[in-house]
Amino acid sequence: MVTNTEVKELGHFINGKVVPGKSGKFSDVFNPSAGSVIARVPLATKQEVQLAIETAKKAFPAWRALSVGKRAEIVLKFRQLLTERMDELIELICTESGKTKEDAKGEITRGLESVDLAINAPHLLKGEYSVNVGGHINAYSTKVPLGVVAAISPFNFPVMVPLAITSMAVAVGNAVILKPSERVPCSALFLSELWQEVGLPDGIWTVINGDKDTVNELLTNPSIEAISFVGSTPVADHIYATGSKYGKRVTALGGGKNNMIVMPDADLEQAANAFLGAAYGAASQRCMAISTVIPVGEDTANQLVKILATKIAKLKIGPYTDAEVDFGPVITQQSKDAIIGFIDRSLDEGATLVCDGRHPEIAENSKGFYLGPTLLDNVKPGMEIYEQEVFGPARNVVRVETLEEAIQLINEHELGNGVTIFTNNGAAARKFTTEIEVGMVGVNVPIPIPVGYHNFGGWKRSKFGEGHMFGPDQVRFFTKTKTISEKWFEEHSTSTSSFAFPSN
Ligand code: NAD
Repeated sequence: MVTNTEVKELGHFINGKVVPGKSGKFSDVFNPSAGSVIARVPLATKQEVQLAIETAKKAFPAWRALSVGKRAEIVLKFRQLLTERMDELIELICTESGKTKEDAKGEITRGLESVDLAINAPHLLKGEYSVNVGGHINAYSTKVPLGVVAAISPFNFPVMVPLAITSMAVAVGNAVILKPSERVPCSALFLSELWQEVGLPDGIWTVINGDKDTVNELLTNPSIEAISFVGSTPVADHIYATGSKYGKRVTALGGGKNNMIVMPDADLEQAANAFLGAAYGAASQRCMAISTVIPVGEDTANQLVKILATKIAKLKIGPYTDAEVDFGPVITQQSKDAIIGFIDRSLDEGATLVCDGRHPEIAENSKGFYLGPTLLDNVKPGMEIYEQEVFGPARNVVRVETLEEAIQLINEHELGNGVTIFTNNGAAARKFTTEIEVGMVGVNVPIPIPVGYHNFGGWKRSKFGEGHMFGPDQVRFFTKTKTISEKWFEEHSTSTSSFAFPSN
């Protein structure tokens, strides 16, 4: 395990073991809470990626041939071991991402929902069967694995996203190559250890570390059948376009700009509490974080902003080692600088500061990448901070007069990941859920992340491709359908040729 005091040289996980990188190129992995380098992760060469793919390809036929029950048994053992070693994994997530321990535990728990679904592969892979569709022919459809598939994950969920986009792929019989974010590779390598310990055959789970060059080799290599990607919208767009061009099945989840409408009838105290956690939790580095609150009516806005200002002033930021903190640092110094830039420019564009988190007290005594909670009022469509995803604790208030206006604003935005409404009015909630053009919708639920057995994914430029992360779509995405028509002749039966198109 990586501790704060050593700089460890990481490797790749290929053919059942950790192997050192050969490129001589590395990326620094930080402990964002301390601002220190804890590890160096190798950036794979094209040849290393090709070797990983070839190894996976060789391992695939035997894994596919294993009974689905045996495969599920290995996934079940993986789940048990992961639960046993959860504390180590929490420490690792916190160290490399800066999350609080409670938050890291939450992400593992949500990730386990995907593992649980994968354990049900024997049930989920049951096919369709029709007896005597005509001429004593029986027809049946089976779902068969694709082969070697790639999963590419972002930094903000070092464990939940890898589990969500690989567990079912493994269980249904594929060989999986994970390219984790170069910012948080330690957690992915830890998962490799667990897979190895529970007896997953070598080559079925690979971690190849690297950056965009590594990803581009996965996107274009003819032996990769499918790509499951989660990350920012510009990269998701590129992954979908390139992967599809090279004939692969691609699902690419992108960023979010998630809104919370607060109706005049809502309990403002409840709405404010819900906003705080959903907006600032994990230093706002969640694709489903609320970035904008839209109070309906001037009175609602004035009261809500007042309550928020008081509550935000009490939030505590700091390192994960302090159990009292509400959220930790952002992932890198570059990220911190970029967020400050967004805030500065929004003020030039006419936004007003309710709470200024640009210079938190802790930043004076720590090299960690800390930013306090910022709340900007009078933000308007067209401003950069309204239009773009800001992956850090700078949140907006956009004032509107009616629910219709709020719905229209949200529908006109290019991103459509998550959204929520706080209200006690059933008719308003019904209008909202019916008319809103967003993939994941909440009513009095601040972060409407579907549970692991439902499909997860946004609309518009928050998701490219047909599949979803989590849920039954994972089975469809990682398998292809084979439909077999079968007839058995009785002994000495006779037959004739027919030249008409077969019909029942
Ligand atoms: P990112 O897009 O920078 O990186 C994601 C992955 O893509 C990483 O593995 C990275 O190495 C690789 N990558 C980066 N640039 C690339 C390029 N030009 N070509 C090919 N590959 C490239 O995202 P991030 O900063 O690690 O994560 C944060 C983003 O992910 C946010 O936008 C967040 O909203 C999004 N996200 C979305 C979801 C969702 O479910 N929709 C979930 C988590 C995170």
